[in-house]
Amino acid sequence: MALSGVEIFKLLPKTNCKKCGFPTCLAFAMKLAQRQTTLDKCPDVSEEAKKILGEASAPPVRPITFGTGDKAVKMGEETVLFRHEKKFVNPNAFVLEIKDTEDDATVDAKINDVLTSEINRVGQLLRVDGICITNDSGDAGKFGALAEKVASKAPDVGVVVNTESPEGAEAALKHFSGKGAVLYGVTAENAEKMVEIAKNNKVAVGIKADGLEAAAELTEKVKSLGVEDIVIDSGARKASEILEHNTLIRRAAIKKNFKPLGYPIINFVQRDDAMYEALVAGLGVCKYSSIVVMSSAEKWKNLALFTLRQNIYTDPQVPMQVEQKIYKIGEPTPDSPLLITTNFSLTYFIVSGEIENSKVPAWLAVMDCEGLSVLTAWAAGKFTGAKIANFIKESGIEKEIKHRELIIPGYVAILSGAIEEKLEGWKVTVGPREANGLPAFLRSRAA
Ligand code: SF4
Repeated sequence: MALSGVEIFKLLPKTNCKKCGFPTCLAFAMKLAQRQTTLDKCPDVSEEAKKILGEASAPPVRPITFGTGDKAVKMGEETVLFRHEKKFVNPNAFVLEIKDTEDDATVDAKINDVLTSEINRVGQLLRVDGICITNDSGDAGKFGALAEKVASKAPDVGVVVNTESPEGAEAALKHFSGKGAVLYGVTAENAEKMVEIAKNNKVAVGIKADGLEAAAELTEKVKSLGVEDIVIDSGARKASEILEHNTLIRRAAIKKNFKPLGYPIINFVQRDDAMYEALVAGLGVCKYSSIVVMSSAEKWKNLALFTLRQNIYTDPQVPMQVEQKIYKIGEPTPDSPLLITTNFSLTYFIVSGEIENSKVPAWLAVMDCEGLSVLTAWAAGKFTGAKIANFIKESGIEKEIKHRELIIPGYVAILSGAIEEKLEGWKVTVGPREANGLPAFLRSRAA
């Protein structure tokens, strides 16, 4: 069971030395109880306390890294059931299945689908994160050949090695040793041999169980055999089962601190109908899946699922925002127009996109309004004449441009007088209310 802040405090040195970055041991204990810091921040904690607290302060869902390098995906570490309670921490990975019974052209096309899946959405790079190679043939040689091909063509991509055969696992895993792969297909029957192979290749283990009780027993068995990086497949395949099992697993881990189910979940959502598959994959995204294995990665499906994942894993208490600064759109000169907007990501990307569409190079002043959109920031008193004037003065833009004209969004036309009052020598021009009016607006001025 998780310990309370006071229970944790009793086990700390109580010297209030501040080495942990908190003013007192009690403050540190409270943060530890809320899982907002880690025990290793206190250098003086006793070995006995470490033993007790280490277990109690470990995240309820064990963190595991899938893949290596820039594209590695961290999974687990979740602490809440609902994102409005705090936030969901580590987005799930989307993984495309490739079977060793599929022909070369299909295999090549699928590898290419993964490698070309990346899109940039509001400043974040989103992609299909991995490949699941499945030993459909039952032939270890064929499986090893597929593994070799995937390893050479997609060396930076995380891989799930899907087989219940120790021979197949040996043949495939040697190509992904130490690369953050998951050996999936560990059952009660093959656990001893498979876990040994996983250990030798330094990869995580994916257990394949039939139901939640069996899953809990199997994770304990794998742990006793020496592997703690585990992902859970409870056997759920229907949408209703995925919803039920995933919810029960997360609830057991978070609310009961039930360690045997405190691991990331892998869901297999493959369907013949791509639309249906997208729906079930979306269910996995919303309800606690850490690895979603799919049979296809069409662009339309990727876009829908990436967008859903991005939204589910955005901190609901922190609006998405971009850095406050003067952005160059195109190659602006000292005579190019200067526009201003707020630093809400969506606002920035829409406004900058429309300026790009105009083909008129421009300076775009993006002001920190804590990630609020223009009207909301104005209503909240964060986008005012005085604040805009200060920002423009301190931004250094006066050294870059010859003119002294600032174009403001049409929705805050009311600010023009206040800005001109505070920004001596400047002229304020009211731009269009909607960003899609910018191309015509800027082109007509440039003509
Ligand atoms: S470092 Fe340890 S002993 Fe020092 S204040 Fe923090 S919790 Fe207390």
